[in-house]
Amino acid sequence: SGGGNVRVVVRVRGFLPREIERGAANLIEMDPRNQSTTLYPPPPDSTKANARKVMDKKVFTFDNSFWSFSRDDDHYADQDDVYDALGEEFLDHNFEGYHTCIFAYGQTGAGKSYSMMGTPEHPGLIPRTCRDLFERIESNNSPSVNYSVRVSYFEVYNEHVRDLLVPRRDPPYYLKVRESPTEGPYIRDLTEVPVRGISEVLKWMKMGDNSRTVASTKMNDTSSRSHAVFTLVLKQIHHDIDTDETTERVARIRLVDLAGSERANSTGATGARLREGSNINKSLTTLGRVIAALADDPPQKRGGRKKEVVPYRDSILTWLLKDSLGGNSKTAMIACISPSDYDETLSTLRYADQAKRIRTRAVVNQDHLS
Ligand code: ADP
Ligand code: MG
Repeated sequence: SGGGNVRVVVRVRGFLPREIERGAANLIEMDPRNQSTTLYPPPPDSTKANARKVMDKKVFTFDNSFWSFSRDDDHYADQDDVYDALGEEFLDHNFEGYHTCIFAYGQTGAGKSYSMMGTPEHPGLIPRTCRDLFERIESNNSPSVNYSVRVSYFEVYNEHVRDLLVPRRDPPYYLKVRESPTEGPYIRDLTEVPVRGISEVLKWMKMGDNSRTVASTKMNDTSSRSHAVFTLVLKQIHHDIDTDETTERVARIRLVDLAGSERANSTGATGARLREGSNINKSLTTLGRVIAALADDPPQKRGGRKKEVVPYRDSILTWLLKDSLGGNSKTAMIACISPSDYDETLSTLRYADQAKRIRTRAVVNQDHLS
């Protein structure tokens, strides 16, 4: 059935050169037997914050704890392992007719884009999902099923929506969000291109991604402040020859690379950064409030009292992702963490822990056409 909790996984990356240079300590341990993640306090001599009292280790359990810290370890999880544990199953749901959403959360540099988009040598969830999708379509040899796929790619930056599949304009051109009584919130005039094969979809994916990257060099790392939403829509038309019945199934596959979570945390932020964060990341702070409201409002508690209002409409991102967060979708969160950043990692793990309590109600999106 379609009722279930948000799947929450965590992934830790290995040291970056700058962390090796400063002699950073690894604070993370993961146990593959029970999928737990343990965060240890930083050693006293490695941080200025050592004046504070002795801290305990914190232990969290997730659906998966992906250890991508060192390739030398037996339980090392590469891009393939993440796809096998999450992406493949979510694509199964899409073929069954369910909407899905996978979003990556975490501080800048923790591995969100690596997990979602990846690199040419180590492709992430987005290109793997595209590849698997078309492999499945091409291996179908039943004449009674017809498939079509469309792709769109946009980013939310400073509460503006920008289409990533059209050339950049100067001044930038922003799209408006509207709400339809039947379809819910949508972006007016967003480019949605039909794609017939893997090379076409990868071409659009790269084009959109470049549009993001260009911006980041010009505008002082836009990518850490913008939310990128890659969407595939899979339509299956099934004609039953015996009954002469035609049914249509439509599934939306949403893959979201969120802005860096440090923008929404006050931990360690200076006044200037805090101000910037509050201007720029209304969407991220609202996402936190939406998740908190949904986590505190499980269906079994809803019966007796008035349902709490979830503040979806307070930001562009949460308005657009309303269905994915608390409605008709099977949803997963990948919490990405750095190995040696206690405060940000603790905040990400707590956020992820809260998201585990959210339940969504996915239904098969099927219509009888005749
Ligand atoms: P974010 O998108 O969260 O800001 P990135 O995905 O850009 O972070 O990751 C920061 C750096 O760390 C990049 O150079 C990326 O290639 C590398 N990286 C992140 N996660 C991994 C991983 N699991 N394995 C190897 N390299 C990684
Ligand atoms: Mg990124």
